[in-house]
Amino acid sequence: MATTTAPVPLDIPSLLPDSTHLITGEWVPARSRSTIDVANPATGTVIARVPRGAAGDIDDAVRSAEAALPAWRDTSPAVRGELLYRWAELVREHDDDINRLEAIEVGHPVGPSPIAARLTYLAGKADKVLGDTLPTRSPNVLGLTLREPYGVVGAIIPWNAPGPMTVFNTAAPIAAGNTVVLKPAEDAPLTALYLARLALEAGIPPGVLNVVTGYGSEAGAALPAHPGIRKMSFTGSPATGTAVMEACARNLIPLQLELGGKSPQIVLPDADLDKAIPAIVRSIVMNSGQVCAAGSRVLVHSSLHGRLVEELAARFRAVRVGTWDQPVDMGPLINARQEKRVLDYLAIGREEGAEIVVGGGKLTEPPYSEGYFVEPTLFDQVRPEMRIAQEEIFGPVLSVLTYDDEDEAVAIANGTRYGLTATVWTRDIGRAVRLARRVEAGQVAVNTVGDGGPTGSIGTPFGGYKNSGFGRSMGHDYLEDWTQVKAVVIDASPTR
Ligand code: NAP
Ligand code: MG
Repeated sequence: MATTTAPVPLDIPSLLPDSTHLITGEWVPARSRSTIDVANPATGTVIARVPRGAAGDIDDAVRSAEAALPAWRDTSPAVRGELLYRWAELVREHDDDINRLEAIEVGHPVGPSPIAARLTYLAGKADKVLGDTLPTRSPNVLGLTLREPYGVVGAIIPWNAPGPMTVFNTAAPIAAGNTVVLKPAEDAPLTALYLARLALEAGIPPGVLNVVTGYGSEAGAALPAHPGIRKMSFTGSPATGTAVMEACARNLIPLQLELGGKSPQIVLPDADLDKAIPAIVRSIVMNSGQVCAAGSRVLVHSSLHGRLVEELAARFRAVRVGTWDQPVDMGPLINARQEKRVLDYLAIGREEGAEIVVGGGKLTEPPYSEGYFVEPTLFDQVRPEMRIAQEEIFGPVLSVLTYDDEDEAVAIANGTRYGLTATVWTRDIGRAVRLARRVEAGQVAVNTVGDGGPTGSIGTPFGGYKNSGFGRSMGHDYLEDWTQVKAVVIDASPTR
């Protein structure tokens, strides 16, 4: 598991000006001058204040993005790419500050971050967005397609991974020539603001990336409702995703949606458990399970059930819980509401008849007493229809379900509303291929999780089937999603 070294103090005022967000390259307060406190979820200590932006601030930001659009759209894609490379370089140079800023506002331990690498990947795509030449009915006619940016696009991101979310949802549209208004979550807005500061320092022109902080019901709701927005991306809960989609429908604009999951870890009878078990535990403990792709359900063949539960339990007991600056595996949950949600699910699981093997409650003794710390919890005897097997908990809660044959494993795996990611653990290549095809998920890993991490695949598309959403981020064609196709037909035939 990831560990951290000695605590290093973080001087937030040196990274970000107080109580301002970014519009037209200027750090400005909210029109209302109101602010929101940002707290360290491990201690409850206020670490910064950000503007409580609302509809008027969103309007300012959209106008700023509209003003920046013509020049940015007409900037050579090669130059756009160079500026994004420079942004990636600055991110790499300030990696330590970015990681610690995200750690302190989200509460997770510091660990390696993928964002500079993702930014570099997207920068390299800026000048590789191609149109087509079309076959024509006459040699005197030339038909072609141009890929043009949409214009001003909006992004709403959640609090669980603000660094990666900022990059995934702003860098591709910017690289493709759009300008952006980003609304980060009230609980974790600092990393987004700092990344935007670095974008500005990299030379990405003022107004190309604007960040408005504020509550979801105020600044968030105003963004997809603004008539100047031409496309949206949203990552978060299904309920808010529905509201954003309704607003997009009223404005008749497209949307990319990522709404979480209930991702299965399918353990086949021949699985390499020594490889599978640490990965399964890491997948649900990472960021205290507040990860849309968390492997929150283990589907184990009945022949392995006893051994798997025993070994998972031993590892759950060994999970080190604490603050981001200590060598721990897991921090607190983000806020009181999320803590209540997770504790409610622990009660629901008990009532439904699942058996708690490890954990099951809040950590209340010092050093946990001031934060939203919940024990990593292992539920056994979970049945597919139970709510803890169906609903996204977004906490360090793992459910073990048993199956007897491959068809049953597939039925359980596919038996939720979600379809974000899945893992298959097996040494049998035939079963791996069959299951990878049959599982309904936007991403299926075999003998690893996600894209395989630092040694895994590059440019791996990410996004959901079913109610996990639609649209993919980060694939080789991701920039194209932020362009619209214009067909051009040129009649060059001589006048008769
Ligand atoms: P959420 O309400 O979906 O929040 C996500 C983002 O949407 C935040 O920036 C939020 O702003 C904003 N927002 C809230 N209401 C809005 C509205 N009416 N219009 C536009 N934007 C709005 O999620 P949450 O309340 O933070 O978390 C609740 C649950 O959602 C979690 O327990 C988890 O199950 C799920 N979730 C999933 C993901 C994921 O990666 N798919 C991420 C986070 C949460 P504010 O936070 O500033 O209000
Ligand atoms: Mg929220």
